[in-house]
Amino acid sequence: MITVSDDPIDVEMALGSGGLSCPRCSARLVPWGSARPRLIRHDIEGPRVVRAYRPRRARCSGCRVTHVLLDVRLASRRADAAEVIAASVERKVALGWGHRRIGAWLGRPETTVRGWLRAFARSASRIVEGFTALVVRDAPDAVTIWPRPSGSLLAAALSALHAYAEALGRRFGVIGIVAWVRAGIAATDAGLFSSRWVAGAQHELALPPVRLAG
Ligand SMILES: [Zn+2]
Repeated sequence: MITVSDDPIDVEMALGSGGLSCPRCSARLVPWGSARPRLIRHDIEGPRVVRAYRPRRARCSGCRVTHVLLDVRLASRRADAAEVIAASVERKVALGWGHRRIGAWLGRPETTVRGWLRAFARSASRIVEGFTALVVRDAPDAVTIWPRPSGSLLAAALSALHAYAEALGRRFGVIGIVAWVRAGIAATDAGLFSSRWVAGAQHELALPPVRLAG
């Protein structure tokens, strides 16, 4: 799984020009058909919005492993867009809402929301650790954007993600535009909200091969 731009033309151009490389061996990726289609719910408030996606697949010209190229708006193994999950995490952290209230607000099953919140809680300490390290690496002189002290582990994780998004924004000159969820999804190759990442399958955060602004 590799996180890529949400613009399919950007992805095709990057694939065609050798702009994407294998996370395992760094060799060039070449087009390799498409992954299975999936339906993703996007609505946060208002009527249901479901969009169909058919992610591009690429194959490594070196180790020959195939990779699914997942749009930065999507979270690995989830039927809802990353922004929807992010909104529920924010409600939980900022307003103390539980999974029942968030489920009613979003029009999603309580069990689905509980799964998102539990996955985020389980990975909270890794998020704090991993994203604080990325802030140190990417913006060592920007003391003002270090994660702010927080009351809970969940709040600390969200704060670390905000700080990393702000660091990326400064690096690319798009202050205030990089959303924490896009930065987090890109840095974890879509695993931010999944047990795949929590399980430690990925020991180091991936560099974001994605245009984050816009
Ligand atoms: Zn490879």
